[in-house]
Amino acid sequence: MTEATCITKEKIDALEGIIRRAKKIAVLSHMNPDGDAVGSCAAVASYLSEACGKDVKVVLPNAPGEPLAFITKRIPQDRLLIHAKSPEAAEKAIEDAEAILVLDLNRLERVSSEEAAVRRAKAPKVLIDHHIGPEAEAFGLVFSKTDVSSACELIYQILMEIVGDARKLPPTCAYALMCGMTTDSNNFANSVFPTTLQMASALLEAGVDRDGIVESAFNSYRTNRIRLLGHMLDQRLHVTPEGAAWMILTKEIKERFDYRDGETEGFVNVPLTAKDIRLSIFLTEEDDRFRVSIRSKKGTSARDLAGRFFNGGGHENASGGRLLVPDDLPEKGDVEAYVENALKEYLK
Ligand code: 5GP
Ligand code: MN
Repeated sequence: MTEATCITKEKIDALEGIIRRAKKIAVLSHMNPDGDAVGSCAAVASYLSEACGKDVKVVLPNAPGEPLAFITKRIPQDRLLIHAKSPEAAEKAIEDAEAILVLDLNRLERVSSEEAAVRRAKAPKVLIDHHIGPEAEAFGLVFSKTDVSSACELIYQILMEIVGDARKLPPTCAYALMCGMTTDSNNFANSVFPTTLQMASALLEAGVDRDGIVESAFNSYRTNRIRLLGHMLDQRLHVTPEGAAWMILTKEIKERFDYRDGETEGFVNVPLTAKDIRLSIFLTEEDDRFRVSIRSKKGTSARDLAGRFFNGGGHENASGGRLLVPDDLPEKGDVEAYVENALKEYLK
């Protein structure tokens, strides 16, 4: 599919038909949901329930972190199912759905624990995503393009084909779309296209409180978080001669700073503010693995590095992945040497 054929009249008609014929609709996004994942789900759930009268369930593999609560709380609590907390209810929502909309991911494995239930389901499946290389064969209908800031921007474009005017969107839908676009573009720092600013403009005109979103997304953390950031940058930052920076948030540091999920959002970007650094990696120790977050400047591919060395992928300059113990690393203590070696190999 080319960018030009992402949104066609035929596909919009097909989507409207799928929505019309379904009473119960499941809306899904990826593991470790970020602002774009939660924003996409909140926006689509709001549109489908408030504008179309559907019985919507949002199903996520695990819970969004507390810093995203300003978006998560826009999803009515009786419509939100977290697979890690209530697997039976989450799978039943997928089984019972008469349409399944999957947002902000390209490969179905990214729904993690829900993957098998989604593959089994007979209902029409729709993918709306902005990553390279969608798993098109797993879906009956695919909206995929990469020249947008976020999945929320693509959802906005699709909704505009249907309703014609941002002022006709339910307020919660408009708000959530602005949230996902603002967080995924890091407040207009990355992946900004002419259409991104057009969307922002139309949503502002429609009355979305952008100042409030910026305050909630970027200026509402606990004080702990800035102390943790200070510690990581001062004590834990490694810089290689090839212009890469990396740091590891260990369990011990997490405990020391009373770390909570989602509080390191944005840390990986900070080293890139130095002129000589073109690649930044942030690793977080978990029980049997390290979660890996990668960002790069133009000309260096975060995505290739994630694919080759960290079992992951993503966008050209923003990717993620994982290192499993003992599959990838015999022991956790091997992680530093692994990262050093991967960077040397990759940037040579
Ligand atoms: P983050 O560093 O914010 O967790 O992730 C940045 C981007 O990398 C995400 O938007 C997503 O596109 C991608 N990503 C993160 N983790 C994974 C992963 O485990 N696998 C793949 N394929 N992509 C990932
Ligand atoms: Mn996204």
